[in-house]
Amino acid sequence: MSIVFNMNETFIKTARQRELYELPAGHAKAFAPKAAHYDRTGDFPFDNFEALKASGYTALTLPAEKGGKDISLYEFALVQETLAQGDGATTLGIGWHLGIMMDLAARREWKEATFAKLCDQVVKDKVLINRAATEPQTGSPIRGGKPQTEAVRTDNGWLLNGRKTFTTLAPIADYFIVSASIKGSDDIGGFLVHRKTPGVRFKKTWDTLGMRATRSDDLILDSVELPEEAYVERIGWQDKDHTPPGWLIHIPACYLGIALACRRDAIDFAEKYMPNSLDRSADC
Ligand SMILES: Cc1cc2nc3c(=O)[nH]c(=O)nc-3n(C[C@H](O)[C@H](O)[C@H](O)COP(=O)(O)OP(=O)(O)OC[C@H]3O[C@@H](n4cnc5c(N)ncnc54)[C@H](O)[C@@H]3O)c2cc1C
Repeated sequence: MSIVFNMNETFIKTARQRELYELPAGHAKAFAPKAAHYDRTGDFPFDNFEALKASGYTALTLPAEKGGKDISLYEFALVQETLAQGDGATTLGIGWHLGIMMDLAARREWKEATFAKLCDQVVKDKVLINRAATEPQTGSPIRGGKPQTEAVRTDNGWLLNGRKTFTTLAPIADYFIVSASIKGSDDIGGFLVHRKTPGVRFKKTWDTLGMRATRSDDLILDSVELPEEAYVERIGWQDKDHTPPGWLIHIPACYLGIALACRRDAIDFAEKYMPNSLDRSADC
């Protein structure tokens, strides 16, 4: 894919946005030459994520007092649309992580100590997080389907069993917020699960036509024992008054970035290609 950063120039309104924009623009230039390889093979772009961690991109949506840049929703869309012009799959993956951190910071519904520890780990240890919410039976979780993944109370905390599909960042995310139905109630809980917890495993199921390098494989929870505090939030997607949160705008931002790069590629091709039946290439 080639890159059309000038398309984003229209949307840069402040010096801060200009500075923020330079970060994904640099990453996109570095990622673009490898994007087709990752898309074809479905290999996970670990090197891209190392670069995003090293530059501080993975902490952009954290509050400033927690070591982040506290970027706005507008700025989030701007940086993600820019990054996606280099590599769409990498952008969608990091978009989940950044969006979740933005959402947690805005809602502040987690225990402060748990949220503060996670932020600290994102800044210092460069950990990544995603939500594992989708299951074949629920379809898109945002419409409130009840998870078949089940959480049972134990003397020491919780026992989780289930299977999640579409788990983006499966090869790399340190934590997943797993949605599970609480046995004996109508509630759905969000459980913070570290990838190395005994009983957690991943199955390579992701073999799609596009976005292959997101590696959105299955996450399997097989009698996963969790401490009491792993229950971090009540999930309200099933509530009647629930509206989809704004941070999900990272998804259209990503796909718009991909579309901009595709447009640029098509124009490049038309400008350069000249069949021998013609005496000039297309005049774009
Ligand atoms: C690249 C990618 C990455 C993702 N990453 C994650 C992730 O990290 N974590 C996560 O939890 N999820 C993730 N998702 C999943 C996403 O959030 C949705 O849950 C998922 O795409 C829903 O797919 P589905 O096939 O189950 O579609 P569905 O939600 O079942 O529906 C597809 C469409 O069909 C319509 N439809 C369905 N049934 C009917 C019917 N009976 N009659 C009429 N219309 C119907 C729906 O309204 C919808 O428009 C990802 C998805 C993609 C594509």
